[in-house]
Amino acid sequence: MKKVALVFVLAVFVPSLVLAWLAVRSLRDQQFVLERQQSLLYQGVADSVAREASALLAEHQREFARQIEALLADKKPIEVARSFDERLRKDWPLAEVGFAVSLDGTCYAPSQLFGGPEAHRFLLDNERFLTSRESVQVFWDSPKNSINLPQSEGKNQKQASEEGSDAPQAAAKPDSYANNPAGRAKEQKLTRNVEPQQTQQGASKQTWSKTAVSEAEFRQLIGASTEGIVARFLQNKLNVMFWYRSPRDPQIVFGALVNLPRLVQGLSDLVKVEPESLRDEICVALLDDSARVVSKTRPAFQTNWKRPFVATEIGEALPHWEAAVYLLNPARLTRSAQTLKLTLGLLIAVLVLAIGAGGWLIVLDLKRQLTLARQKTDFVSNVSHELKTPLTSIRMFSELLADGRVTDREKQRSYFNIITSETARLTRLINNVLDFSRLERGDKKYNFAKCDLADVVRETVESYRPHLEAGGFKLECDLPASPLFVKGDRDALAQILVNLLSNAGKYSGERKEARVEVRRQSQPLAHVEVRVLDRGPGVPKGCEEKIFEQFYRAHDSLSSGIQGSGLGLTLARQIARGHGGDVSYEPRQAGGSCFVLRVPASPI
Ligand code: ADP
Repeated sequence: MKKVALVFVLAVFVPSLVLAWLAVRSLRDQQFVLERQQSLLYQGVADSVAREASALLAEHQREFARQIEALLADKKPIEVARSFDERLRKDWPLAEVGFAVSLDGTCYAPSQLFGGPEAHRFLLDNERFLTSRESVQVFWDSPKNSINLPQSEGKNQKQASEEGSDAPQAAAKPDSYANNPAGRAKEQKLTRNVEPQQTQQGASKQTWSKTAVSEAEFRQLIGASTEGIVARFLQNKLNVMFWYRSPRDPQIVFGALVNLPRLVQGLSDLVKVEPESLRDEICVALLDDSARVVSKTRPAFQTNWKRPFVATEIGEALPHWEAAVYLLNPARLTRSAQTLKLTLGLLIAVLVLAIGAGGWLIVLDLKRQLTLARQKTDFVSNVSHELKTPLTSIRMFSELLADGRVTDREKQRSYFNIITSETARLTRLINNVLDFSRLERGDKKYNFAKCDLADVVRETVESYRPHLEAGGFKLECDLPASPLFVKGDRDALAQILVNLLSNAGKYSGERKEARVEVRRQSQPLAHVEVRVLDRGPGVPKGCEEKIFEQFYRAHDSLSSGIQGSGLGLTLARQIARGHGGDVSYEPRQAGGSCFVLRVPASPI
């Protein structure tokens, strides 16, 4: 039994638990994959907005170059350079100030004398940088290999640059071009303004910016390139400058300080949710360098703008600007994952429970089978013993009689009586075994006929009386005067009675008294009731129903010394039920057993 339980635990329960654990793990992986897919999808949206913004800037850059080429078409570069500010502002609405500088450090435009207040401010802020007399912290968008900029780790330098080029930070200073005649400028990594919930690196919390700030002078930035965009922060304000030098005179660099509000207007039109199907799921926003919303797809939507789901930087031309994606309903993702988790959890719990319950039922059934197998073995030894005892006495007495040594007539009659009763006992036992196997196979046939049950009882009791009285029994029989008709098989009904009387004789104890009562009862339905009573020890508590099970013996042969097969009551009940009635046990008042046979009464 223990072995079976161990096999069950090892072969079924443990593998099921392992499978359940694997299922939970795969669910977690599944959820991770799902989140990853979703974040990739939304990342695609942010990337496409950022790409379009970069493309728009590139388009402006080309347009700027075209403007210059148009101006240079019919004039000398030096002439164009002198009046460049006024001309450019007239022709190109995106320009706030136009500038022209030569690589040797001459500033042609804007004019100190004829320029407006913007020009003055511009010169104040940028002249030293543009004429390469000062290196400042800048972001620039031109081929980086054109100048020599070694990488280095660093703190967030945005704040440093925000404080203005006039006061470059000490951290950026040591390697600066001013102190480094070899022309090496220092590039520093920056942290991003926003902290996306999902980053492409995965779990990493630290979100480094793709853009880098460098301390360099203008000539150094230009290097061998012909055009580019330079961005720098001055008093917390972003200055974006386009520059271009024509092949007609590469010594003169033309540039423009971009009118930021106008540029932003153009960028705002690019902020949209693509594909449309995601419209109800996300809000796309364009954030400026202070993580303030410049434009968003859902005007009413509000959230912590610094914590987007995913975000993409626009690039060096607009440093710290981000195309960010926010979930309209952030709980939905976790909710659906939780529902899935809960469903699977419940499913696994139900499965484990079902396996447990199934296992328990198997164990119970196994236990029952084992008990039955043990009972069958007991039955074989019990029956053999029951057969052996009468056979021994028959053999002994018949040998005595055959020898002719017993001459006393009385003794002879007594021996013959013993032989007869032992033969009857053998017949009863064999009948029981045969009937039991017939009933088991469903072969048992009854010859139903209207019969007087009181008469059957009288006949059986009288034929059994000598056997009981020989054992010192006092047998009383209380029968009604009138017949009590039932529909039944006389022999089968007699067999029930013999089994009950035989038990009364076997399980009698000291008080050898037995009684048989027959009555007609009308409740609940009209039936005839036969009671067989004794004054024996009675059936032990808790075994009242079990004694009707096949092979079951409440008093086993070893401890009680009473022989039996455990089939008598089983047969009695099966035959009674075959007649539409039943046999039941109830304890007799003042000690003893009372077995009651009920058979439906037949209409007279
Ligand atoms: P057995 O061959 O063992 O008598 P039965 O099916 O006739 O088989 O009886 C089953 C069990 O019921 C017996 O082993 C005994 O323990 C109990 N039993 C039957 N009749 C009586 C009785 N009259 N008094 C007490 N116990 C009884």
